[in-house]
Amino acid sequence: MREAGYPGDGEIGENLRRVQNRVEAACRKAGRNPEEVTLIAVSKKKPWEAIREARAAGAADFGENYVQELQEKQAIQESEGMDGIRWHMIGHLQKNKVRFLIGRTVLIHSVDSIALAEQVEKESAKRDAVTDILMEVNVAGEESKWGFRPENALSGAAEIAKLAHVRLRGWMTSAPYTADGESNRPFFRELRQLSEQAAEAGLLAEFDRNYPVPVLSMGMSCDYEAAVLEGATMIRVGTEIFGERG
Ligand SMILES: *Cc1c(COP(=O)(O)O)cnc(C)c1O
Repeated sequence: MREAGYPGDGEIGENLRRVQNRVEAACRKAGRNPEEVTLIAVSKKKPWEAIREARAAGAADFGENYVQELQEKQAIQESEGMDGIRWHMIGHLQKNKVRFLIGRTVLIHSVDSIALAEQVEKESAKRDAVTDILMEVNVAGEESKWGFRPENALSGAAEIAKLAHVRLRGWMTSAPYTADGESNRPFFRELRQLSEQAAEAGLLAEFDRNYPVPVLSMGMSCDYEAAVLEGATMIRVGTEIFGERG
């Protein structure tokens, strides 16, 4: 039985390998080591069976957009005793939901305001935790997108760098949807340049084994190869792996 929008029947594994092959090809073209690029399988609005199939095919990093959906999936994960999943929060986050995330994800990509970073600080401090985050930047300036405006990103990073229970690991952006990924390269380049400026200014947390370089989370189904060519270290791919969302 196929559910709408869920390929099933081993297709997810094939899709994963196809994306991985394209990432490797883009890395070769850019003279990069494919190990620098983490593929995050974006499983929002997809059933647990899709995650199970992707996990069986080797995916380990999963991205979710909604706190409640993440919690439901983590509950199933626990009941099945499945380990080895790294959860990434990539969707717009309301302040009152932050407390549910502390200690439950490896990285919150979608910190789009100082107020939200301060909430992560407060909830992390309560639990004696340190939470890794990215700053989301709206480099394309789309009205519909969340994120810091590029001109506010460095001053925002300076504020966030002061928070003791938050570690700023890098940057995230979503470029416009496009049929031609190449057209988004200028946006990806801008995010990389911003990251370089922040690193020079000493605004990013010290690098360690988990994050040897600043994280650049950019590139989705329509443009992940272009993002890799511009230095993405994490790409967030949903549709190309799991099929269209209903
Ligand atoms: C849904 C989503 C993705 C994945 O998009 P696809 O086009 O399905 O690959 C990536 N990043 C964010 C922030 C998303 O919300």
